[in-house]
Amino acid sequence: TAETFRKEKTIDLRKKHIGPSCKVFFSHDPIKIVRAKGQYMYDENGERYLDCINNVAHVGHSHPMVVKAGAEQMELLNTNSRFLHDNLVQYAQRLQATLPEKLSVCYFVNSGSEANDLALRLAWEYTGHEDVITLDNAYHGHVSSLINISPYKFHQLANAEQSKSVHVAQSPDLYRGSYRQDHPDPATAYADDVNNLIQKAHEKGHKVQNIFFFNILAEKLQQCVCVRVLPYHCTVPLPHRHVHQAGGLFIADEVQVGFGRVGTHFWAFQLQGEDFVPDIVTMGKPIGNGHPMSCVVTTREVAEAFKNSGMEYFNTFGGNPVSCAIGLAVLDVIEKEDLQGNALRVGGYLTRLLEQQKEKHPLVGDIRGRGLFVGAELVRDRVKLTPATAEAQDIIYKLKEQHILLSADGPHRNVLKFKPPMCFSEEDADMVVEKIDLILTDIEKALGLQMPSTVHTENGSRKRNVSLAQFIQALQWGKKVFSQPPIVQVLSLKKMREACNFHHRYT
Ligand code: PMP
Repeated sequence: TAETFRKEKTIDLRKKHIGPSCKVFFSHDPIKIVRAKGQYMYDENGERYLDCINNVAHVGHSHPMVVKAGAEQMELLNTNSRFLHDNLVQYAQRLQATLPEKLSVCYFVNSGSEANDLALRLAWEYTGHEDVITLDNAYHGHVSSLINISPYKFHQLANAEQSKSVHVAQSPDLYRGSYRQDHPDPATAYADDVNNLIQKAHEKGHKVQNIFFFNILAEKLQQCVCVRVLPYHCTVPLPHRHVHQAGGLFIADEVQVGFGRVGTHFWAFQLQGEDFVPDIVTMGKPIGNGHPMSCVVTTREVAEAFKNSGMEYFNTFGGNPVSCAIGLAVLDVIEKEDLQGNALRVGGYLTRLLEQQKEKHPLVGDIRGRGLFVGAELVRDRVKLTPATAEAQDIIYKLKEQHILLSADGPHRNVLKFKPPMCFSEEDADMVVEKIDLILTDIEKALGLQMPSTVHTENGSRKRNVSLAQFIQALQWGKKVFSQPPIVQVLSLKKMREACNFHHRYT
């Protein structure tokens, strides 16, 4: 057995010796995992769980190629990067090959927080000023400099005071934000918001130096999953221009969603289009498949400015030969097993299955994401968008009883968040969605929630029945499903429009 103590004893010791602010998953009834393989985890009794939580185990838990690479290098040598070693330069070269040419200089560190903290230092040194624009709800790390720029964290403190040099931009949220699907040009409206922040900062005598996007999805993939954001190519280039014009740099935090997870691209910032190149990219979590390592990549110009500050940068563990061997093996497996392709295929399949659930279950308000980073937002009321927070928790716990590990996130903790290892299969997707379907049916029955009947529409001589969910979605997204205004018989169009809170194109 892989257990040293019985589970109760582990819990007691944890309570005694581990900081009480360190939380466990499923705190009412935590699970003890003793081994894992691929997308499955096993508890102390050998019970198997399907893992939809661990994006860190990117190429699958305990992948033999990664384990072998780490073990072999550990047997040979591990030391700091003040000695020459081929693993370091080879890994930097391999990472660079996945990025735009201009991003060519790497700093290896040990966690996402360290990477983002160093990114801030690079930007401060390059631009000479300290102001930062961050997105609402963003999380960038646990060290003091990052808690300051992470609304997700500083909002948790009752007496939190936002630092004067931190400017919080609205998330470009099309579902609950200030500018929604009905807005004629939400991309410009949200970009203007960033520009206004910059102007206000200038008026106050501040200069704006950075903008952090939780990687276009991660507080844009993360955010995309937690809140519905604008299409990727609309969101960043404009604010990016505003920030550059103000003499700032753009930092893309890829800690959650890099390394092929979005399916179509290797990096989430690439969703913004070929022309968009951030000034600094930070990486973490999946980079070492669970081995603690991370990286900051930037341009030669920014790196030279950092060097000219005169201070040496040394990091005891960053870029050691073992970490680099592991990093290289992770890149090899992504390529060899076509995991980016798998994220695209299985992610698409999972999204379609969840979309079907939305047709069927009133509690499912919105499905979004890219590749194998998918969110399902639960609402008690599709019109008022009342978050179904307790229901989301209920689902998470019931799934756990059925040996599926899933988490709920977002500002209201009502978004079921799927970010499994990238070897997740269509069968796994079928299994988890089937179970969610049954649980939702039970919860909705208990709550007396029903899907409204289908909407009968007439468009000239064409008559069709569409589900209300389809109809509302069509309105919300401005899809042209009817060439003329449909006549709705079950609910009046006016009523439905009010319900949707939209002035839509048929008015
Ligand atoms: N950035 C993002 C986007 C993250 O999700 C996280 C961790 N959740 C971090 C930074 C911090 O990384 P770490 O926990 O490795 O310090």
